[in-house]
Amino acid sequence: MTYVIALPCVDLKDKACIEECPVDCIYEGERSLYIHPDECVDCGACEPVCPVEAIYYEDDVPSEWAEYYKANVEFFDDLGSPGGAAKMGLINKDHPIIAALPPQSHDE
Ligand code: SF4
Ligand code: SF4
Repeated sequence: MTYVIALPCVDLKDKACIEECPVDCIYEGERSLYIHPDECVDCGACEPVCPVEAIYYEDDVPSEWAEYYKANVEFFDDLGSPGGAAKMGLINKDHPIIAALPPQSHDE
C-alpha cells in the first residue's frame, strides 16, 4: 500500500510534505510531486501537512481522482527505485495525466 498525491498539488508544489517524509520517497516532477509506491512506508506523516489536502491513503483517494494512483505508480516506471528523492532533485517530466492538464490556478 502507499500514499498518493492527487490533483491539488499540480502547479502548486508547496513541498511541505517533503520535510515530513522519514524515507525521502516524495519526488518532484515538473508540475507535481509523486510518492514512490514501493518506498513509501505508509507512516502517514505527509498527509496532514499538505495545505491543499492533495495526499491520500491509497484506499481513500476520492473517486474523481482515482487515476492519480496510477499516475504516482507509473511516474516511476522508468526511474525504478532511486532510494531517495533529495539526490534526484527536480525530475524533468510529469505523468501524461498531469502533463495534459491545463494550468491549475490556486488563487483563493
Ligand atoms: S504538501 Fe501537498 S501541495 Fe505541497 S508538495 Fe506535498 S502534496 Fe503537493
Ligand atoms: S506516508 Fe510516510 S513514507 Fe509515505 S510518502 Fe508520506 S511521509 Fe513518506
